[in-house]
Amino acid sequence: MTSLPTMVDPFGRTVDYLRVSVTDRCDFRCVYCMAEDMTFLPKRDLLSLEELDRLCTTFIEKGVRKLRLTGGEPLVRKNIMELIRSLGRHLDSGALDELTLTTNGSQLARYADDLYAAGVRRVNVSIDTLDAQKFATVTRWGRLGQVMEGLDAARRAGLGVKINAVALKDVNEHEITSMMDWAHGEGFDLTLIETMPLGDIEGDRTDQYLPLSLVRQRLEETHTLKPIPHRTGGPARYVEVAETGGRLGFITPMTHNFCESCNRVRVTCTGTLYMCLGQDDAADLREPLRASEGNELLNAAIDEAISRKPKGHDFVIERAGAAPAVSRHMSVTGG
Ligand code: SAM
Ligand code: SF4
Repeated sequence: MTSLPTMVDPFGRTVDYLRVSVTDRCDFRCVYCMAEDMTFLPKRDLLSLEELDRLCTTFIEKGVRKLRLTGGEPLVRKNIMELIRSLGRHLDSGALDELTLTTNGSQLARYADDLYAAGVRRVNVSIDTLDAQKFATVTRWGRLGQVMEGLDAARRAGLGVKINAVALKDVNEHEITSMMDWAHGEGFDLTLIETMPLGDIEGDRTDQYLPLSLVRQRLEETHTLKPIPHRTGGPARYVEVAETGGRLGFITPMTHNFCESCNRVRVTCTGTLYMCLGQDDAADLREPLRASEGNELLNAAIDEAISRKPKGHDFVIERAGAAPAVSRHMSVTGG
C-alpha cells in the first residue's frame, strides 16, 4: 500500500492545513484588523489566480488535506470563483478533504450557490456584534443587513456556517450571551477569538483586548459548558452549551498556548509562506514558483521552510502603546 504524502515539522507535527490569503484588500475596515487608510499591495506583487492554483496544488500533493481561503476578503478578489472551482477538482479526486473560506459575508448572497457547486460545504463568517450601529462602527464600512442576507443565502445553498466573533472589550463584551443564543438558534456554531497584536491599527490594543478566560468565567455563571472533543482542524476548543444545545468554540492564542498541536501554515497573496502566525520568519515561494514551470524549486523551498517551523508564537499584549508583536496585519497573513 502506498502511504499518503505528509509534511512533518521538527517538532513532529504533521502540517496538513493550509490557509491562503488570496487578497489583502477588503470592503470593510475592522478596527482591530486594519487602519482606515490602508495602503494595499500593488497588483503586480500578487500571485495570479493560476499561480495560486499551482501553489495550492503543490501543497495538496505534499499532504495538505484542508485548504482555507481567506484574506483580506477572499470574495472581493476578481474572478475568485475561477480559483475556487478549479481547486474543487482536488475534492473530487479525494486528495483534499475540505475546501473552505473565512469571509466577512458581504458577498455571500452573490456567491453562496456557486461556492456550494464548487464543493465548498462550510464557511466561517465573521460577525462581532448583532447591533447594526455597533457593527457599522467596528467594521467602519460594513452593513449588518447585507451580511444577514449573505447568511440566508448560505443556508439556502446548503452551506454550513460557523460564526467567528472577536471578543472586544466594551464593544461586544456584554453581548456574548445574546450572540450565542442567536447563533445556536440559527443552527450555527459560534467561535470566540481573542484579539492578537498584528499590525499597526491606529489605536491601543490594550483597549480592545478581552481575555476569553474572563468571558468563559462569566458565561459559566449562567450556562453549563461541557468540553467536547469536537475539532474542525483549527485551533478552536469547543464546549457544548446545555441551555442552547449548540457548540461554542474558543480560540485563545493569548491566554492559552495553542501551539502544541499546530498543524497549519499560511501563505500570503504575494506567495510568502509563514510557518507561524505569531512569528516573522517566512519563506518566499513566489520566486521559486515563477523561476520555472516545474515544481522542483517550489517543493524544495516548501520543504526547507517546514523544517524551520517554530515551536510557538511570542504574543504579548501588556504595555500600552507597545509595538505590535508582529508588524504585518492579519489581512496580509490571513486569519
Ligand atoms: N475578511 C474575512 C473575515 O473577516 O472573516 C477573512 C479575513 S479576516 C483577517 C479573518 C479573521 O481574522 C476574522 O474573523 C477577523 O475577525 C480576525 N482578525 C482580524 N484581525 C485580528 C486580530 N488582530 N486579532 C484577532 N483576530 C483578528
Ligand atoms: Fe476585512 Fe476581515 Fe479584516 Fe474585517 S477582519 S477588515 S472583514 S479582512
